[in-house]
Amino acid sequence: MKQQIFIHQLPKNLSDMYPHDLQLYQNAPFGEIMLDELQEISETRLKVLTLVERIHFQKLLMSVSKRRAALVEELYKQGLDEFARLINSPGCKSHTDMDIHIRRKDHMSHVILRSVVAFNTVKKRWFFKQEARLFKWRFSSLDNEGIRCFMQIYNFDFTPSAREARANIYNDERFSNIFDHLENSIHIENTILIQDKDVQQYVSLDQLDELSGSSYPCCMRVLHKALRKNHHLTHGGRIQYGLFLKGIGISLSDAMTFWKSEFINIMDEAAFEKEHTYQIRFIFGWEGTRRDYQPYKCSKIMESTVGPRDYHGCPFKHMPRDVLEDELVNCGFNALERSAIMNLSQNGQYSAACNKYYEIKHGCFNDIPFKHPNIYFNECVKNRVLYRNYGEIYFFILYILNNLQFRIKNLTLLPNVKDLNPESEDMY
Ligand code: SF4
Repeated sequence: MKQQIFIHQLPKNLSDMYPHDLQLYQNAPFGEIMLDELQEISETRLKVLTLVERIHFQKLLMSVSKRRAALVEELYKQGLDEFARLINSPGCKSHTDMDIHIRRKDHMSHVILRSVVAFNTVKKRWFFKQEARLFKWRFSSLDNEGIRCFMQIYNFDFTPSAREARANIYNDERFSNIFDHLENSIHIENTILIQDKDVQQYVSLDQLDELSGSSYPCCMRVLHKALRKNHHLTHGGRIQYGLFLKGIGISLSDAMTFWKSEFINIMDEAAFEKEHTYQIRFIFGWEGTRRDYQPYKCSKIMESTVGPRDYHGCPFKHMPRDVLEDELVNCGFNALERSAIMNLSQNGQYSAACNKYYEIKHGCFNDIPFKHPNIYFNECVKNRVLYRNYGEIYFFILYILNNLQFRIKNLTLLPNVKDLNPESEDMY
């Protein structure tokens, strides 16, 4: 690609604009850049963020500076020397042309990726989580002078970057290919699920029965009901449901209490201790390999092997037709609603069937099907809390916003106003 494009024009000096290796920007980048360079620096940042997430979870027990060191080592290994240098920088000791050049790339790649994820709540959340981690790790590399300069330069008294500047790039079709490519490169389903602190405050053992009816996806609802009824789940069910519970914020001691309260209906306490405590502790990383196992995503659940005594797997894929139909009746769906879900399930559109289940249950429109039961759960709880606080007017507004956003996205590629509001980025 040879074409050059203008990002933004501001009569400013680059070295004034980039005085520090760690930056909090107020303005969109300005000057010229080749499209292929823009794509390259954005892809590089995406690689860095993916590494940040991987290292964060692999080295959970390590200090921030050790995690940063692991990241820098990996970046050098992969030939991403410029980023490695930025991340390991003391702050503002050097101001060569090369330093300014790298800082500018840092700035641009952040703006571009931030714009790419603006339409997608889940990807946006992932992006800000990794960026927040990266920022913390980078801050930990600053020396005293670097910290002092940073505080002085930014003074935490800044105004957010101009919305128009970000809106303009959406309207430039030369960007849309790059945006599409980058957005498709963010595979949320491959990332590790992060517990949602806002949701966890509404989760406790004595709420599980209610939550299973109101906010669980069908797969987890089925497992919860089977456990309550039979006081037992087979191995696959215990793992699938145990990890889900961990993901929604149930602690190890609560998980132990929960499973024990069911299993001791069919076995004595000593047998429970012998046969099940190890596995529960294992899930939480307290036994065996001590890994921080994450809740299964939908694609993994759908790959499960399921036998006649099992309740795990995805009901829209694994349940016999008549059992699924009964389950939907039990949820209170009418014949028309059941047939919409059953048809999707029969056609092999399992995620779409799950999405229809969600839409009908919550009376809303959801244009991006869930790929993870815990994300499904988190969204439901948030919706319910808002509903409790704002009543039916909330669902009405949600419906209007969802439809409005859908039309805008398909017709004009304009950003959702909510997504461009810097105040909505509270996940920093
Ligand atoms: S699509 Fe995913 S969340 Fe929905 S029921 Fe299947 S496994 Fe569960």
